[in-house]
Amino acid sequence: MQKVSVALARRPESIGQEVIVQGWIRTRRDSKAGFSFLEVNDGSCLGNIQVIAEATLPNYESQIKRLSAGCSVTVEGVVHQSPGKGQSTEIRARRIVVHGEADTETYPLQKKHHSFEFLRTIAHLRPRTNTFGAICRVRNCVSRSIHNFFQEEGFLYIHTPIITTSDCEGAGQMFRVTTLDPANPPKLGQEVDYTQDFFGRCAYLTVSGQLDVECFACAVGKVYTFGPTFRAENSNTSRHLAEFWMVEPEMAFFDLTDTMDLAERFLKRIFRDVLAQCPEDMQFFAQRIDPTVIDTLERIVQSQFVRLAYTEAVEILKASGEAFEFPVAWGHDFQAEHERYLTEKRFRCPVILYDYPRTIKPFYMRLNDDGRTVRAMDVLVPKVGEIIGGSQREERYDVLLERMNEQGLDPDDYWWYLDLRRYGTVPHSGFGLGLERAVQFITGMGNIRDVIPFPRTPGSAEF
Ligand code: ATP
Ligand code: MN
Repeated sequence: MQKVSVALARRPESIGQEVIVQGWIRTRRDSKAGFSFLEVNDGSCLGNIQVIAEATLPNYESQIKRLSAGCSVTVEGVVHQSPGKGQSTEIRARRIVVHGEADTETYPLQKKHHSFEFLRTIAHLRPRTNTFGAICRVRNCVSRSIHNFFQEEGFLYIHTPIITTSDCEGAGQMFRVTTLDPANPPKLGQEVDYTQDFFGRCAYLTVSGQLDVECFACAVGKVYTFGPTFRAENSNTSRHLAEFWMVEPEMAFFDLTDTMDLAERFLKRIFRDVLAQCPEDMQFFAQRIDPTVIDTLERIVQSQFVRLAYTEAVEILKASGEAFEFPVAWGHDFQAEHERYLTEKRFRCPVILYDYPRTIKPFYMRLNDDGRTVRAMDVLVPKVGEIIGGSQREERYDVLLERMNEQGLDPDDYWWYLDLRRYGTVPHSGFGLGLERAVQFITGMGNIRDVIPFPRTPGSAEF
């Protein structure tokens, strides 16, 4: 007898096979004819396998008739064609082992609708719901697709550090990493003396692997890092987490156009893979979350992204006649409402904005000849807004130094980053894709807290 997943047991080619299936009960229904229907789910797919349990089973009265949502079981039996609607197979059980009961009085996941807010309070159990099972599988598919894409393109996967001592980009606030006693830290005058801390200096959780991964791009060509990223920004929005996963490719000898081309192919590849590999889950999101998700992805993989210079975008927004809450002015960053206008109303597709004002972008972005703009690019998608931020990097030593001074950064802190420009400098570029923003866009989920297993947000890190 073979242990098989529910996904496999549900397929017609399993008919006639003797199998073992293991999982959790979703529902039990008793027939007057003296047997019970059990719906078993193991997370391998959205659907359940129907199990027929005859009253002749030795533990029928003592255990099987007490099964309820959340109980765990091993089922041995033969897969049959199912006469019922909505499934092609079912298992006629020969033996059912009950591993764990789940008291119906207290088990929170009874068969009724639960709000996502409520489910966040039981984040340890929400993986057992249809929605979170589907999220897990789509998130996994996206992660695999990311690796496959870069591996097939000849990129090397680089593991950049989580702990950093450079406030790399000033990108939002950072979480401090310290082993000093908070009640009694060593002092130098009024200030805490971090030279006595673990690393002999201030250390933080990384906000981006970019600066480190650039060292490898400037040695082995095309690289990417894919790991957790931390931002202590106190923004309670539906698109921000304090801990999220970011994939950051960095390519030597790539200019900004090469990078926009790569980003577009990369996103389309992810979307295509999800449509092909998670059709059942995507149907679910289309039915339950957002009816447009499948059409949107199918349209995007066929279409071309719009590419628009920041300055042109400002003109379009000014001429739009829309009553924006935040007025549009050259030199200001776009707000969500501006991004949404461009992606949802004006172009109705992903938009790559590029050549932003130098004053609103970090020091490492390459200065254009106009002296006012830098070679930045953001990929915006409908509803979610920015999912990718990237740029061509400043490869000229003098210009980089000047930009650091202009932004009040101490070049001594970045001596090794500057060295990349002193020794064999090359044009190079890269970007960062937020994994959760991508999953949010694909699934249509409204809140980013519901597309990561255990969200970390201000005031919340219980599980
Ligand atoms: P935003 O303007 O949306 O706050 P950002 O410009 O600060 O984002 P970048 O530093 O460009 O973000 O990071 C690259 C990508 O990482 C973003 O395009 C986004 O997909 C993702 N990202 C950034 N901050 C967060 C966050 N707090 N939670 C989840 N994803 C994030
Ligand atoms: Mn950005």
